[in-house]
Amino acid sequence: MKSMVQQEEQLLSQTNWQELEHRLFLRTFNRSPVTLVRGQGAWVWDDKGKKYLDFVGGWAVDSLGHCPTPIIEALELQSRTLIQASNQFYTVPQIELAQLLVQHSCLDRVFFGNSGTEVNEGAVKLARRYGKIYLNGAFEVITTSSSFHGRTLAMTAATGQDKFQDAYTPLPAGFINVNYNDFTAIKAATTERTCAVLLEPIQGEGGVNLPDDDFLSKVQHWCQEKGILLILDEVQTGMGRTGTLFAYQQYGIEPDIMTLAKGLGSGVPIGALLAKEHASVFVPGDHGSTFGGNPLVCAAAYAVVKFMISNNIPQHVAIVGLNLINQLKQLELEFSFITNVRGRGLLVALEFDTDIAAKVILSCLKRGLLLNRVKPNTIRFMPPLIITEAEIDKAIDILRSALRET
Ligand SMILES: *Cc1c(COP(=O)(O)O)cnc(C)c1O
Repeated sequence: MKSMVQQEEQLLSQTNWQELEHRLFLRTFNRSPVTLVRGQGAWVWDDKGKKYLDFVGGWAVDSLGHCPTPIIEALELQSRTLIQASNQFYTVPQIELAQLLVQHSCLDRVFFGNSGTEVNEGAVKLARRYGKIYLNGAFEVITTSSSFHGRTLAMTAATGQDKFQDAYTPLPAGFINVNYNDFTAIKAATTERTCAVLLEPIQGEGGVNLPDDDFLSKVQHWCQEKGILLILDEVQTGMGRTGTLFAYQQYGIEPDIMTLAKGLGSGVPIGALLAKEHASVFVPGDHGSTFGGNPLVCAAAYAVVKFMISNNIPQHVAIVGLNLINQLKQLELEFSFITNVRGRGLLVALEFDTDIAAKVILSCLKRGLLLNRVKPNTIRFMPPLIITEAEIDKAIDILRSALRET
């Protein structure tokens, strides 16, 4: 007798989903040739029943792994209680989640949106509002090359990468892209029009780029001196990803404004914009969101954050992340075409001397390991934060065989 799941999966395997997708979708994604239908912990299954160890993790989103019990229970209960009520009214889950985030960060107030891009837009609007009130209408935001802040027109202008910008010019004004990790360039770009500096503490999409140890503190002091705001985009680095709840904690700094998304909902779409009291200059009507702070999503995110804190997930990330980096450094000694291993916690990159990332990733995929090609010559590792040492060993074994073949 076949189980229900097996029967369902047999039905799924009778359709050519990938061919259907090619006919139906706008051509925005270059997907890996695999159709995922199920996940559990750090593992996923495709429509043919093949199992993979998932080091992509929903793009650094599935912090507690696939289908974690705390989220299932929170969604189940909240979906029977209240799913959507709008921000015309007070609702409990969003207030509970806000309280948790404020208690565990250096920020004082919260606004909820649905994605990283949306809360980054909110952060820039907040900084512009601040500029109008306190800085004679200053509106420019300094950002850096190889950053990533989202896909709306304004966030495309904020994202300092030509490949995202060139097709959409003219872009909204008010964003100055300077070289990454270059404090002098930030100083030079600061004028009476500047209201904020927007940075990722560690760049994710740009290739897992770590700043010099003193870069962020220099920028924070500069912002204080000039009376402008420091906005940290912790959409990818936040929620335990780098081994502390927020990455800023490792650099001895405090942002005026911070954004979160990816890992916050562990797969349930949510973004949060947080600000210190002095930067909380919105007044009613300035900003809003229909779905932002929705009870269903906030109940799930609350369960995620609560689980992370009570089980000290960031500490687990710091420990297993170090193990991952050490094992990758071992591979670097074994294979001469590996030129660099870098990262913090479970946000890690492996760089090659030529553009072979796609080839290596395809070979790993065939062997049952999912990885992300962050640049033509660079692989990114961003597994669920609950990944075990044994699963990391398994991933390294698969990667080693794939590298031998290359
Ligand atoms: C993914 C990402 C975004 C965009 O988030 P979406 O949820 O895709 O809108 C913004 N900033 C950083 C640092 C990211 O990694």
